[in-house]
Amino acid sequence: MAQTNGGSAPILISGGGIGGLATAYALARHSFRVRVFEQAPEFKEVGAGIQLGPNIFRVLEKIGLKDEILADAHRPPAQEMRDALTGKLIANIPLGDEFTKRFGQPYAVTHRADIHATFLKACQSSNLISLETSRRVDGYEDHGDHIAVTLENGERAEGSALVGCDGMWSSIRERIVGDGKPRVSRHIAYRAVLKREEVPKDLWRPDVVLWAGPRTHFVHYPLRRGELYNLVAVFHSDHYEEGWNAEGAKDVMWQHFKMQVPQVTRMLERIETWRMWVLCDREPVKDWSKGRVTLLGDAAHPMLQYLAQGACMATEDAVILAEKAAAAPNDLPAAFKAYEQERYLRTARTQIMARVYGEFYHARGVTAELRDMAVGGRNTQEAYDGIAWLYGGP
Ligand SMILES: Cc1cc2nc3c(=O)[nH]c(=O)nc-3n(C[C@H](O)[C@H](O)[C@H](O)COP(=O)(O)OP(=O)(O)OC[C@H]3O[C@@H](n4cnc5c(N)ncnc54)[C@H](O)[C@@H]3O)c2cc1C
Repeated sequence: MAQTNGGSAPILISGGGIGGLATAYALARHSFRVRVFEQAPEFKEVGAGIQLGPNIFRVLEKIGLKDEILADAHRPPAQEMRDALTGKLIANIPLGDEFTKRFGQPYAVTHRADIHATFLKACQSSNLISLETSRRVDGYEDHGDHIAVTLENGERAEGSALVGCDGMWSSIRERIVGDGKPRVSRHIAYRAVLKREEVPKDLWRPDVVLWAGPRTHFVHYPLRRGELYNLVAVFHSDHYEEGWNAEGAKDVMWQHFKMQVPQVTRMLERIETWRMWVLCDREPVKDWSKGRVTLLGDAAHPMLQYLAQGACMATEDAVILAEKAAAAPNDLPAAFKAYEQERYLRTARTQIMARVYGEFYHARGVTAELRDMAVGGRNTQEAYDGIAWLYGGP
């Protein structure tokens, strides 16, 4: 076995989603041994699309996975915003060469399963990573010089540290931050994926298109090198259900969209089965590490999806956490504090701004007019300047 970092005890990771696997791989690249515990019987992501800003490619490049992720992705030429009641174009932001030149990295859209599979394959190729399914982490004890984790079946595992990558409803966060359940935004997302041939020819667009309506928005874009088409319809609702894979009632969604332009309604009519996701987030916090335990991704800073950044932020976290751990392999509590210090303001800003963008997308009346003036009145460089705080990092 290769020479390992941080002694012989592995770093334990709770959760094998995008954040958990990215962390495992980034740590292994710095020669740490890692054990990933995933509660589900297999490592798997739900079928839906995900947008990847240039900021994720900056960190993917560092861990050598940029080309693999891009291989399955689609590169949209532009991001477009339209009024869902009139069809009017509000803004068009080019995502081609000009964009890549400005940010030094591309913009892409991909299938969640594809990015997750790339991380999984990378982890499987490392003999420092142990991937363990049907292993729910039920509790832990920090003994000062090591961590002991209790698994669902009563088994115990010891490690040098624990990273909670256990998502929005993180039980590890409950111990560290203790801020109760996530905040329910009362926005609900319905998601579906079509095959390219199922999309009417005149409606297929290579761009990321967002239809902004009163208290709704609808986004579509191609996936997997253009072979699939991703659709997300968001509307206001008091319905609450944990998790992301419940079936959504078609008639409920239809009430919110039926008065919109045919480009929207014709596309929505194509979908037989919608998957529903009740959107939640939390107030930003800065203390998400305690001793040998830290949080990452949605467990640390869950955000609404309006900036399309949750998975990007989780991947940034992973790479930076591994760098801090490599800089202080014999003092992981200090490394975790340094990681948290570097991350909390950037992730907090993204959490807050995602809420603002949500309000903007769903605006009505005068607020919608103001939005159209603000985003529609910018030239390309001004549009890039507006998002440079996010896309220019980390
Ligand atoms: C509608 C929607 C659209 C989105 N679009 C984008 C986008 O375009 N771009 C983007 O970057 N982000 C997007 N996101 C956000 C992104 O999906 C999440 O931020 C990201 O998946 C979080 O990854 P994670 O690994 O932190 O958590 P999760 O993906 O939630 O993974 C947590 C894992 O931990 C496991 N787990 C939980 N508890 C335990 C336990 N006790 N023991 C063991 N395992 C456990 C779970 O089974 C799961 O596998 C979107 C989100 C939504 C809702």
